[in-house]
Amino acid sequence: MTIDSVEPCFADESKIRVTARISEDVGGLLPYLNAVLANATYVPDRPALTFTKGVRLVTVYPTRVTIAKADDLSDAEETLGWLAERLGWCGEHREEIEPVFEGKVRVKPLDIYGLLPGTNCGECGERSCLAFALLLLQDKHRPADCAPLYRDKDMEARRGRLGELTRALGIGE
Ligand code: SF4
Repeated sequence: MTIDSVEPCFADESKIRVTARISEDVGGLLPYLNAVLANATYVPDRPALTFTKGVRLVTVYPTRVTIAKADDLSDAEETLGWLAERLGWCGEHREEIEPVFEGKVRVKPLDIYGLLPGTNCGECGERSCLAFALLLLQDKHRPADCAPLYRDKDMEARRGRLGELTRALGIGE
């Protein structure tokens, strides 16, 4: 795996968000990894597998991986090594693992809409919060594109819940 980009995390600027390229297509292994990781969520349509490792949020796509909330570059590299090892293990033990293809989460636009400020302020570039919710589910926005949600202290609980939902869907911060 080769690191392509390193950026500050949207939600916590003391952490970093890393994107790395995977040299071979691991899409076929994701249902196997889904079966062996207790806290993973598989999104078959993408496909993508999301899970947390400590505070880090890891999303694996067929040829790339993102790690959000890594402490620093060496922490991200260590997580990538850990992931490569588990993918290798799944490849070697394919015959013994019952792959899990089902997604575990179904989220509707109104579930997202209900967590947004609902002011239709337009700061995200969309004309309404509902339009933003629809585009978020299409992976055309990130939760952090809604500035009021991240700026206002009384939005903390909604922000946390939205983060849980989008992580489960394999959508980044
Ligand atoms: S920035 Fe947030 S509150 Fe404003 S319109 Fe967009 S989604 Fe709604």
